[in-house]
Amino acid sequence: RAKGDGRGVYRYYADEMTQSARERLHLETRLRRALVDDQLVLHYQPQVELQTGRIVGAEALVRWMDPEHGLIPPGRFIPVAETTGLIGDIGAWVLAEACRQGKAWLDEGLPPLTLAVNVSPRQFRHADLAAQVMQTLIETGLPAEQLELELTEGALMEREQEALDVLQRLRAIGVGVAIDDFGTGYSSLAYLKRFPLDVLKIDRSFIADIPNDPDDMEIAAAVIAMGHSLGIRVLAEGVETVDQLAFLRFKHCDRYQGFLCSRPVPPDEFAALLRAQITRADNEDPQPFDA
Ligand code: C2E
Ligand code: MG
Ligand code: MG
Ligand code: MG
Repeated sequence: RAKGDGRGVYRYYADEMTQSARERLHLETRLRRALVDDQLVLHYQPQVELQTGRIVGAEALVRWMDPEHGLIPPGRFIPVAETTGLIGDIGAWVLAEACRQGKAWLDEGLPPLTLAVNVSPRQFRHADLAAQVMQTLIETGLPAEQLELELTEGALMEREQEALDVLQRLRAIGVGVAIDDFGTGYSSLAYLKRFPLDVLKIDRSFIADIPNDPDDMEIAAAVIAMGHSLGIRVLAEGVETVDQLAFLRFKHCDRYQGFLCSRPVPPDEFAALLRAQITRADNEDPQPFDA
C-alpha cells in the first residue's frame, strides 16, 4: 500500500459524509416545503376478505409528488422524516387525509371500509396519539370503527407501559390496531396477550415463497392459527399469486393485500374498483379475486 493512501481514503470518506449530510439537509428542506405545498398524496391498496373475495378495507400509503423528480415512494423519505421529527407533521397529515377520504367515500354511498393508516414508531412514542386520533375523527366525521392504525412490533416493545396505555385509549375510542410486518421485529410473543390487538399483518417476506418454501408455509399457518386462538384477525401482505391465495384460504386467513388484487392506486381508481365490485354484486355475485 503506497504511503499517503490512508489520508486519501480518509479524505474520500469525509467528503462522502459531508455530501450525504448535505443531501439529507436538502431532502429535509424539500420535504418540509412539500408538506406546505400539498405535494404529498395518499394511494390506497385494497384489503380483500378471503371468504368472499370482496374489498373490505384499504391501506393508505403516502407518496410524494415532487415537481422535479416525480412520484417518490415512502421508503425514500419516511426514514428521513423519522430522524428529523418531520414525521409528526407528515403523520398528522396522513391521518387526517385518510379519514377525510374515508368519510367522503361513505358520503358517496360506497360501503363502509376499514381504513388502515401507518403510524411510525416516533409518532407513536411522542405525539399524544389517542387524543390526536379522537380529534381527527371528530373533525372528519369518520366512524371510529372504520379506522385502523398499523404499528410495528418495535414501537410496542419500547416503553411498554406507555404503549399499553395508548392502545387501551384507542380501544376505548373504538379504533382498531394492527401489527404491521408481523414476524420481522422483536417477535416477542408475550405482547400478543398483553396488548389489545385487532389484526396481525403477516409480513410479505413470509408470503413471497409460498408454495415453494415449506418453512414459510408452516410459519404463515402458525401465525394464522395463533392469531385466531387469541381472537385476532390475520391479514397476509404481499399476495401476488393465485397459489398463495389458495393456500391462505385453505388456512382460513381472514384478509389479504397484494398485487394479485391491486397495487396501491390513487383515490379515484380505488373508488372505481369499489364501484365495479358493487356492479358485479348486483349482477350475479361472482367472487372477483378467487383462485
Ligand atoms: P407497509 O406498511 O408494510 O406497506 C406495504 C408495502 O408493500 C407498500 O409499499 C406496498 O406497495 C407494498 N406491497 C403491497 N402489496 C405488494 C405485493 O404484492 N408485492 C410487493 N412486492 N409489494 C407489495 P410502499 O407503499 O412503498 O410503502 C413502504 C413502507 O413505507 C410501508 O410498508 C410503510 O412502512 C411505510 N409507509 C407508507 N406510507 C406511510 C405513512 O403514511 N406513514 C408512515 N409512517 N409510513 C408509511
Ligand atoms: Mg402498513
Ligand atoms: Mg407491512
Ligand atoms: Mg412492509
